[in-house]
Amino acid sequence: MYLTIKAQLFPDDAVGQELLRYERCFKREIFKICMVFKSKNSVFEYRYKNISNDISWTCKSIVLSKAKEMYTANKQGKLLKMNFSSIWNVQSFEIDHEKKRLGLILGRNQFQRKIFMHIYWSDYLEKRLHQGEILSLMLSRKNESWVAYFQMKFDIKWNLSDKVMGVDIGIKVPAVICTSDMKIRFIGNGKMLRYYQRSYRSKYKKLQHRKEFRKMTLMNHKLHHILNDIDHKISSRIIEFALHEDIGIIKLEKLTYMNRTFDIRITSDIYLWSYKRLQDMICYKANLNGIRIVYVNPKNTSKNCPDCGSLNYPKDRQYRCNVCGYHNHRDIVGAINILRAL
Ligand SMILES: [Zn+2]
Repeated sequence: MYLTIKAQLFPDDAVGQELLRYERCFKREIFKICMVFKSKNSVFEYRYKNISNDISWTCKSIVLSKAKEMYTANKQGKLLKMNFSSIWNVQSFEIDHEKKRLGLILGRNQFQRKIFMHIYWSDYLEKRLHQGEILSLMLSRKNESWVAYFQMKFDIKWNLSDKVMGVDIGIKVPAVICTSDMKIRFIGNGKMLRYYQRSYRSKYKKLQHRKEFRKMTLMNHKLHHILNDIDHKISSRIIEFALHEDIGIIKLEKLTYMNRTFDIRITSDIYLWSYKRLQDMICYKANLNGIRIVYVNPKNTSKNCPDCGSLNYPKDRQYRCNVCGYHNHRDIVGAINILRAL
C-alpha cells in the first residue's frame, strides 16, 4: 500500500534561497532535455553527464524520467503541470528524527554539499514514518511556505479474523459502529460539528455581504482544517476500537451519489463532502492496520427492521417496527443493517 505523508518545512533564509535556486535548476534541466527530445523527435539515451552537476547525482534519473513524461505529454497535446519544486530519491536526503531536521544532498563531486532545515510533523505522522519505507521526497512551495511530501510504501499483514464491524456515518452522530458480537459504540460529537458549521456559516454570510473574499477563503481554510482534524480523530477511534475487538472486516456504505464533485466553496456542502473524506480516512487507516474494507449497498439500511426485515419509515431518532414491534436508536439500526448487508 502506498501513501503520501505531508510535513511542513522551515528553511532559514539562506537555505530557502538555496532551495529556490535548486528548483530553477531542476526545472530548467527537465525543460532543456525535453527540448532535446523534441528536436530529435524521440526519447533517445540522454547521458547523465550532460545533466547539470548542480543536480544531486542520484536524482539525475528523476530529471530524465520527468523530461520523458513532459515530452510524451507535449506530444499528446497536453501540458505537464510541474506542481513540484524538486524531487529527491532516498539516497539524496536524510531525516534526523531526534533534532527534527531534514538534510538534502546537493550537487556532485566538488559541488556536493548538504543543507539542513527544520521539519515538522505530528506525532501521528511520526509513527507512520517509522512504520513504512520511504521511497521518495517531493518538495513543494506555496507562497512563502515549504512542504515536503514523502511517498511511502507499507507492507500489510492482513488480519484474518472473521469478526465484522458495520460503521454507519451520520449527521446527528458522526459514526455508529456495531460489531458482529453486537457491541455498539457511538463515536464523535455531532452537536459540536453542527455548532462549528452554523457559526461559520453565519460569519461567512456576513463576509459575503461585505464582499470580503480574501477573508472568506481564509475562513474556509480554517473550517476545512477543523473538520479535517475532527475526522482524523473519529476515524482513529474507530480503528482503535476495531483493533481492540480484533475485527477483520469493516463494512461501510457505498456512497455512489457522493461521487459527484461538490463545490467545497459552498459551506453547506462541506459537510456532505466530509462524509466521503471520513470514509476515505477510515479506509486507509483500516488497511494500514490489516483490516479489510467492504462497501455495501446503502439501499434501505436505515429502514429495514433488523429483526424481521420489514420496511418501516422512522420519523424521529427512534426506530420502531410496525410488524414485530422491534425498537432501537435509528443510527444503531443503520449500523446493524450495514453489518448484515451483503
Ligand atoms: Zn420487525
